[in-house]
Amino acid sequence: MDKTDIARLQQLDAEHHLHPFNDNAALAKKGTRILTKGEGAYVWDADGNKLLDAFAGLWCVNLGYGRSELGEAASKQMTQLAYYNSFFQCTVEPTIELSAKLAELTPADLNHAFFTNSGSEANDTILRLVRHFWAVQDKPQKNIFIGRHNGYHGTTMAGASLGGMAGMHKQGGLPIPDIHHIDPPFWFADGGDLSPEEYGLVAARRLEQKILELGPDRVAAFIGEPIMGAIGVYIPPMTYWPEIERICRRYDVLLVADEVICGFGRTGEWFGSQYFGITPDVMTLAKGITSGYIPLGAAMFNDRVAGVLKHQGGELAHGCTYSGHPVCTAVALENIRILQQEGIVDRARTEIAPYLAERWAELGEHRLVGEARIAGMVGALELVPHKGRRAFFEERGKVGVLCRDNALRNGLILRATYDSMLLSPPLIWTRAQVDELFEKAWKALDETAAAL
Ligand SMILES: *Cc1c(COP(=O)(O)O)cnc(C)c1O
Repeated sequence: MDKTDIARLQQLDAEHHLHPFNDNAALAKKGTRILTKGEGAYVWDADGNKLLDAFAGLWCVNLGYGRSELGEAASKQMTQLAYYNSFFQCTVEPTIELSAKLAELTPADLNHAFFTNSGSEANDTILRLVRHFWAVQDKPQKNIFIGRHNGYHGTTMAGASLGGMAGMHKQGGLPIPDIHHIDPPFWFADGGDLSPEEYGLVAARRLEQKILELGPDRVAAFIGEPIMGAIGVYIPPMTYWPEIERICRRYDVLLVADEVICGFGRTGEWFGSQYFGITPDVMTLAKGITSGYIPLGAAMFNDRVAGVLKHQGGELAHGCTYSGHPVCTAVALENIRILQQEGIVDRARTEIAPYLAERWAELGEHRLVGEARIAGMVGALELVPHKGRRAFFEERGKVGVLCRDNALRNGLILRATYDSMLLSPPLIWTRAQVDELFEKAWKALDETAAAL
């Protein structure tokens, strides 16, 4: 694109497009970056810069860019039957096939899918249907959801309320009633002198305290991301989730795993729940379900929950026009077919993730990095003022943005949350791309350290 085209688009964008999660006035002044092409591990911007996308778009392009099979699956379905609903005793073929495929892929007896357009809507669905599940069993007062401070479950009224982002709660009068939060497991900041394993148990037992404080007969469900993404990739100690599961079982509180980031291979397992060895009752799916090629979300319910909803729930007064949209479910099926047939998740776990972990640990030796955490294909570098001390910069977020901008200038996309540099690459990376990440990230760290 030539300079005048870019300037024209930037101006129109500044005048007419409100960007999500942006200071729109500041962005309009700076001018937005326009992306024009993607191929494998790389994207190109309108200026022609080739960028290694170490963030998979927004945690979602698990398959990498430019897989024409997904476009062909969409085109075929659009031509044959672009749309039909699942409301009036009908549905469409790819949506049935995808329901069965998800039942097979997800662990244990998570066998029942409800489709939405996004992860946020899937969490809204879960809030409503889980409350309904308890209500039709004569427990309407068992309606409280417990989430975690700084958790992220999307941006709808329920999604943002289940999440624990203070900045989001400030806008629009959130959280909605009967949603409570406990502190998240973040050993780096919060672990004190405990070993990570000891701390994992302490952090999990906050759930038990909260359930007892509210009363077990009031608590419907606990919701958490197996690995907390948006806040900065908090990877809990391995002791955390099994203890959470034990507590949920003890008080008959449903366990909801929000797998929107962790699902579809992000940790090297198909689902984060498998990485941590737990069996949730309900799962939230989105993002990697289509590798981001088209919007789709799903709530997966186990036999117990779905059985009550089916046999005691009456008519489900819930649904989206596009629940189970045939084009979206056809693309999801094709995405999953490729992930399976090409063994992409297995290869990520056995070949790429171990090498990535090795090189990520090397980045951890940089004088600016206080901790390099990683699980499979998701990780973070915690930038700190004093190496060797688990403490943050006084003004949080400035150094992270500086490092992100330095990386970008070197042709590498890393996201920054506060001063954590976040990693979540497409699963199709090779060793060459891991090496490229290392070179470019090290250079960005050097440049950032020099500027301080
Ligand atoms: C992105 C995300 C969501 C929300 O999904 P949307 O499709 O953006 O609505 C929910 N939960 C987690 C863990 C996410 O990362």
